[in-house]
Amino acid sequence: MFKKNLADLKAYQPGPSPEEIRKAYGLRRLVKLDSNENVYGASPEVRKAILNDTLLPELYPDCRDSALRSDLSQRLGVPEDQFLFGLGLDEIIVLISRAFLASGDSMVMAWPTFYEYYCHAQIEGAATRKIPVDASGRHDLKAMLAAIDETTRVVWVCNPNNPTGTYLTHRELADFLDQVPNDVVVVLDEAYIDFVTADDFPRSTELMAAHPNLVVLRTFSKSYGLASFRIGYALSSRRIIDEIDKVRPPFNNPRLSQIAAFAALQDQAFKDTCVRKNREVRDMVSEFLDEKKIPYYPTQANFIFIKTDRPEEVAETCKKNGFLINPFETGIRVTLGKKDDMTVLLRLLGRIFSEAPAEPSI
Ligand SMILES: *Cc1c(COP(=O)(O)O)cnc(C)c1O
Repeated sequence: MFKKNLADLKAYQPGPSPEEIRKAYGLRRLVKLDSNENVYGASPEVRKAILNDTLLPELYPDCRDSALRSDLSQRLGVPEDQFLFGLGLDEIIVLISRAFLASGDSMVMAWPTFYEYYCHAQIEGAATRKIPVDASGRHDLKAMLAAIDETTRVVWVCNPNNPTGTYLTHRELADFLDQVPNDVVVVLDEAYIDFVTADDFPRSTELMAAHPNLVVLRTFSKSYGLASFRIGYALSSRRIIDEIDKVRPPFNNPRLSQIAAFAALQDQAFKDTCVRKNREVRDMVSEFLDEKKIPYYPTQANFIFIKTDRPEEVAETCKKNGFLINPFETGIRVTLGKKDDMTVLLRLLGRIFSEAPAEPSI
């Protein structure tokens, strides 16, 4: 009765809600640093735009996201017909997998990276080739290239990478794209691009011209603080966009999400302030970790990966002390919070890491 592909998959397991955890641990306050949400919220213009809207609850939304499409097209210098909008990047990852992957196909991704790539390849019955990140937490592009064969349809590149926060340069990505066969789709997930300050970060829209097989992903969930509205988009050649569009449900973006994203875009000053504060906190945290000799990956995103061989234990201690963070196999991922909260968290981490050796065994 069930599909074989789904046998090894588990539904997303939501833990207890932050409010339940707060009560269970008897905390006055719980700081949520586990999902890379924007700790500064969203632009006040978003609230205004929504409250002023006529709502029109009985009508299906604009299936082309016209206002948003036209605005973004001008800002990015990418033609309107090279956009595809989704209910968050999560949906776009589903649509790309649906459009390009089937049983007998394979895809290549880094490890660790964003889990959803794996999940949807599995659902489509395609094989996954997980290529471990290198010692510096970056995609091993050479090994990823070597993993491509005639069955490979898609390669996922997450830049900056979630959870390591590390990045690939323009040169590295351009060289990689030159070597990937033209009939393999390269998906470049730039969910965190707005937080990046490195000068040599890829200018991905520029690379699209020479590489029609490149798909660039962006979202309003992180730097614009609209995770609740679920809106993201893909940029690519018309040929690829039209192909993904075949599997897109026509009314996938609710009216209010389109309005929220449009309003957020008009308030660049709010986003720029979030990005500036994030950079200040990032520098503060990195300096602290350097000083305490706690190993971590240098980050370009709004989170940081700290290495430890006891991630679960560290996460539990943080929870008891009012901070929700995310344990991985070789370390913890911490969303960069507000300065005051991070000052408290760093003091706690300093204590935790001085108790026992922190270097992971692998
Ligand atoms: C958060 C995140 C997404 C998902 O973004 P939504 O638009 O909220 O679905 C996609 N990719 C990466 C790497 C992310 O961290």
